[in-house]
Amino acid sequence: MSSEDKPRGLFNERVIIEAHPLRASGQTTLAKAISLLAAHPEASCILAVYRLRVVGIATRQDIIRALAQNPNGQQIRLSQVVTRPVITVSNAEVTELAPLLEQFERHQISHLPVVDEHQQLIGLIHQNRVWQALHAQGAEAQLCQQYQQVQLFAEITLKIRQSLQLKEILHTTVNEVRRLLQADRALIYQVLPDGTGQTISEAVVAPYPPVLGMAFPEEVFPKEYQTLYAQGRVQAISDVHAPDSGLAECLVEFINQWGIQSKLIVPILHPLKPALSVGSAPLRQHLWGLLIVHQCRSSRQWTDFEVDLMQQLADQISIALSHGQLLEYLEERVKLRTTELTQANDSLQQEIQERTLAEGALRQSEEQLRLITNNMPALIAYVDRHQRYRFNNQVYEYWLGQSPEDIYGLAIKQVVGAAYYQTIRGYIETALAGEEVTYESELTFKDGRCRLMSVTYIPHVDVNGEGAPQVTGFFTLTMDISDRKAIERMKDEFIAVVSHELRTPLTSIHTSLKLMATGRLGHLSADGQQMLEVADENTDRLVRLVNNVLDLQRIESGEVRMDAYTCDAANLIEQAAEAMQTMAQQHEIKIHRQSVPTAIWADPDYIIQTLTNLMGNAIKFSEPGNTISLTVQSDLDSKDNGMALFCVQDYGQGIPPDNLNSIFERFQQVDSSDSRKKGGTGLGLTICRNIIEQHGGEIWAESQMGIGSRFYFTVPRSLTKVS
Ligand code: ADP
Repeated sequence: MSSEDKPRGLFNERVIIEAHPLRASGQTTLAKAISLLAAHPEASCILAVYRLRVVGIATRQDIIRALAQNPNGQQIRLSQVVTRPVITVSNAEVTELAPLLEQFERHQISHLPVVDEHQQLIGLIHQNRVWQALHAQGAEAQLCQQYQQVQLFAEITLKIRQSLQLKEILHTTVNEVRRLLQADRALIYQVLPDGTGQTISEAVVAPYPPVLGMAFPEEVFPKEYQTLYAQGRVQAISDVHAPDSGLAECLVEFINQWGIQSKLIVPILHPLKPALSVGSAPLRQHLWGLLIVHQCRSSRQWTDFEVDLMQQLADQISIALSHGQLLEYLEERVKLRTTELTQANDSLQQEIQERTLAEGALRQSEEQLRLITNNMPALIAYVDRHQRYRFNNQVYEYWLGQSPEDIYGLAIKQVVGAAYYQTIRGYIETALAGEEVTYESELTFKDGRCRLMSVTYIPHVDVNGEGAPQVTGFFTLTMDISDRKAIERMKDEFIAVVSHELRTPLTSIHTSLKLMATGRLGHLSADGQQMLEVADENTDRLVRLVNNVLDLQRIESGEVRMDAYTCDAANLIEQAAEAMQTMAQQHEIKIHRQSVPTAIWADPDYIIQTLTNLMGNAIKFSEPGNTISLTVQSDLDSKDNGMALFCVQDYGQGIPPDNLNSIFERFQQVDSSDSRKKGGTGLGLTICRNIIEQHGGEIWAESQMGIGSRFYFTVPRSLTKVS
């Protein structure tokens, strides 16, 4: 038979059909048939063929049996032994194994010759070959199914891993598991820490009822079951109604409601420790839930492969749970961190806003300060404690040609020069010691004019810092007083001229009035006499005023110089007291004096003038019967710098604290009516101050209202002893 003639059929290629079966004519002897069979050990039968058509078939057993039964068996013809008619199958019918097998079963035969449409033999099928093929086909299908299942498993795993949303993961799992196992229901039952639980995800095919949201009652899902599942127990029940299923009756009743025939349950175990924790301690597992599949339409034998698959899926769910926990943890952390960052950002924004506002306000106030200070006709500056300029107004540039930018940060000495610095150094140190100081000084402007300036240093005391208040620098205010001084000078000169011109006629008037008052020039009426006394009194005051003005002018202008020499302070006190004795008696005041010989370096006349001025005030402002005292001290306290200290004390009306300094200024009186009532001029203390300052001393007053006043002044002591 050529290859073209090869019988065609579905299973030809798989040698279902034996293409060259052993054949012989019906006349062949059994002896010959035996030898043919011996030559072809694979052949299990011989076909009797006549004109290419099968007319009979004899198996090895048929031939052996015939030989055994007949003594001359060897000569028996094959046609006598074969079974006939032979059941054949058309080549066209050989497409599927099952119908072939059915033929073998129906006819109780073991061989089936294959014929073409002309009934001519083209091959032979042996029943065993069909069984073999069927078997091979079955194994392949199983493998194929397993392969598909592995593929599906990989897909599920991927889906589980791709999602971090637990709900979605569980949903995917039950759907895919149901599909994968071709089950009727797949579900996930979550076991809560208190032992209760419920179905949280389900995939079920119609018409079977859903169990989603259902909780298993305790009797069907007792604690012992949970313990077993927690240990990894898997339950695969092929028939829940079978007596060997091991299910309690109540449980069978329960599951009957849901039409369950077979079920497969695997536990989902999950580490107790959070997924994030690190460390080598072994993780304890707890039963998180169950992955369950149901078969409802029939009972089902669960294969090891399926059980294994379910377990692996349960593991994947456990991993997903860890991922979910991780996600939850991370989300919480992110939320927390976001809140923290938002808060930090908010407060930062607020801080920036506040700072911007503060900076704006600062800039504005700085601009305002500059605007004000730049428009003031004075040099205004701030100097730090290291004597460096930290602020200068623009006037520095206008007057001195030094721009604030150039001066900023420079030391005073660098700006004013070493020589000038020496003259003002003492004042700077006084200010930095915390004392306000004012002095007058000459300054040359950039246009070459020499101007007299009044300079004031006001200490900047920091009271906000820690510890004791500290002087951190001082403010300086320098004003041009040249014009004011010139006017003052002119005024003084004018007063001096007027006073001088007034003195001679006044003296003459005064003398005349006094003479008239004696009555030598004739007697006046009582009214005339009274008027004369008033005129005398006023003239007397006017003379005093003129004399005081002239005195002051002469002293201030330096016209008179103090003619200082060594004299005894005690002696001066005596003389002054003597001079004031008459006035004291008139006012009924006692003069008390206390002194020891003290050599001073002074002009005695002017010191006596000072003492009498002060005593005159003390008498004027005391009540009759009071005492005033005069003292001189040579040993001063720790401030002793070689000065003698005089003191004129009274127990009179006292001086208000606000006036203690001003009374030394010209025409300053506590009560403006004093000049009339007490006959004062308001110049006495100014003259005293001038005299004492010209001696290099100081004068000041201390007083308590209603108790009395003390006027102190100092003059230099003399190294020469007084006799
Ligand atoms: P006056 O000639 O007016 O006394 P002074 O210059 O001597 O001028 O004094 C100025 C003012 O000081 C007085 O008018 C008075 O108000 C006040 N004064 C001076 N000494 C005393 C004193 N001892 N007690 C009370 N007030 C005094």
